[in-house]
This record gives sequence, structure tokens and C-alpha cells, in this order.
Amino acid sequence: MAVPQRRTSKTRRDKRRTHFKLTVPGMVKCEQCGELKLAHHVCKVCGYYKTKEVISQ
Ligand SMILES: [Zn+2]
Repeated sequence: MAVPQRRTSKTRRDKRRTHFKLTVPGMVKCEQCGELKLAHHVCKVCGYYKTKEVISQ
């Protein structure tokens, strides 16, 4: 089994984790309901796109 030759330093470990983000890039907040949605897509929660209702509930 492969074993790491040396322990990963705190700096190196933390630098790696800077790429661990809470949200995927391309996710934006919905103008209408504040929910996270995909950019350039209709909000699935409220059915709004660019302040207009596209999908009626
Ligand atoms: Zn919404």
C-alpha cells in the first residue's frame, strides 16, 4: 500500500481546502425568493426569471 512519505503541513492542507466551497460556481441567489439557483436558469422554487414569473404555481 502506498504510504505518504511525509505529513502534509497545515499550510499545504489549508491551501488545498481553499477550493472547497460551499456552493458550486454558477450558483446565484434568486432575486425573488433568495434561494440558491443556477445562473441563467429559471428559479425552481418560485418560478421566476429576471423579476418575471415564468412558471405559475
Ligand atoms: Zn426564486
